[in-house]
Amino acid sequence: MLTRYKEYLAYLDSKLQKMFESQKAFIKCHKGCSYCCTEGEYPMSELEFVNMMFYFDTLPNELKTKIQNNINELISKPKQKFYKCPFLIDGVCSVYPERSIICRTFGLIWFEKDRKKIPFCVDKGLNYSEVFDKNTEKIIKNAPDGTEALAFNISREFLRSKKYEKEFNIYFGEDKTLYDFLKEG
Ligand code: SF4
Repeated sequence: MLTRYKEYLAYLDSKLQKMFESQKAFIKCHKGCSYCCTEGEYPMSELEFVNMMFYFDTLPNELKTKIQNNINELISKPKQKFYKCPFLIDGVCSVYPERSIICRTFGLIWFEKDRKKIPFCVDKGLNYSEVFDKNTEKIIKNAPDGTEALAFNISREFLRSKKYEKEFNIYFGEDKTLYDFLKEG
């Protein structure tokens, strides 16, 4: 099952790469910026979580200890809606190759129930901030090079839907937040 899921991830990454490339005029994502990993809920399916934890098991012991300490600290506290991801170590994602779907899509504009959703880092002057009007909550212009800000069909619901389960012969399983997976297993 994990082999087939990795095929799905490769497919997803190739699609996302083209989307990010087409929107590069608006994208401020770069190594060292980890804002999206510090204030999230990190919803994911059982398949995504298991795949990520298999990768975690392969990490060097020193790194694993740091992550485990973060996990212990996180789950020792009552659940917060938004929290820092325990896999973020020194500003870098320690499970980057096997991170969850939502981590892969973050940064683009997406559709959710026919509404356009803007990545929340827009509030920090990051992605799409030059073309987003906070008062009307709308994109008001193109990038200086003429690039149009586009929204994509990359909601989690769609990307972990039955369509892809069938196509890749995988089963995503139950959805929970990262906190709940780490706390309850
Ligand atoms: S798994 Fe990695 S990319 Fe996803 S929120 Fe955590 S640190 Fe960020």
